[in-house]
Amino acid sequence: MSEKRIIHIKFSEFRSLSELEKDDNELVSAAREASGKAYAPYSGFMVGAAIRLNSGKIIMGANVENAAFPSGICAERSAISNSVSNYPDDYPVAIAVAARTADGFTEDYVSPCGSCRQVIAEEETRTGREIRLILSGRDTAAVISGISSLLPLQFNKQHLRPGRP
Ligand SMILES: [Zn+2]
Repeated sequence: MSEKRIIHIKFSEFRSLSELEKDDNELVSAAREASGKAYAPYSGFMVGAAIRLNSGKIIMGANVENAAFPSGICAERSAISNSVSNYPDDYPVAIAVAARTADGFTEDYVSPCGSCRQVIAEEETRTGREIRLILSGRDTAAVISGISSLLPLQFNKQHLRPGRP
């Protein structure tokens, strides 16, 4: 016999960036700055991500595209690779994302792709802490307390080694 399950996701939506908490607003500014460093000649979709580490350091990443499409990397994964490689003992408390095209910042807030959600989930597993997500648009934002809302029923290390820590 089956049992119906319902998964709710909870997040805060903002109609103006000025309504964000100061730290979140600052992180969105850093993500916007990072989007200016994107290498996106193929899509023209320039994405920036900014991570706030527990120490207060801000780590930025941008998407880096490649003529061999799968070789490119998203801004979120670029930022996480940067953070883990350079500050392995620190840990992310928040990540902000912003994207722009030739027309300016996207009107709607942008959300991480599936691969980036999986990588953010792994980083939460590695550090044992949730990462606050601040998704931004031109003058809108969504704040989510951790990746489990964006990646329910996620695959993680428990599936590889059931019963082991
Ligand atoms: Zn991605």
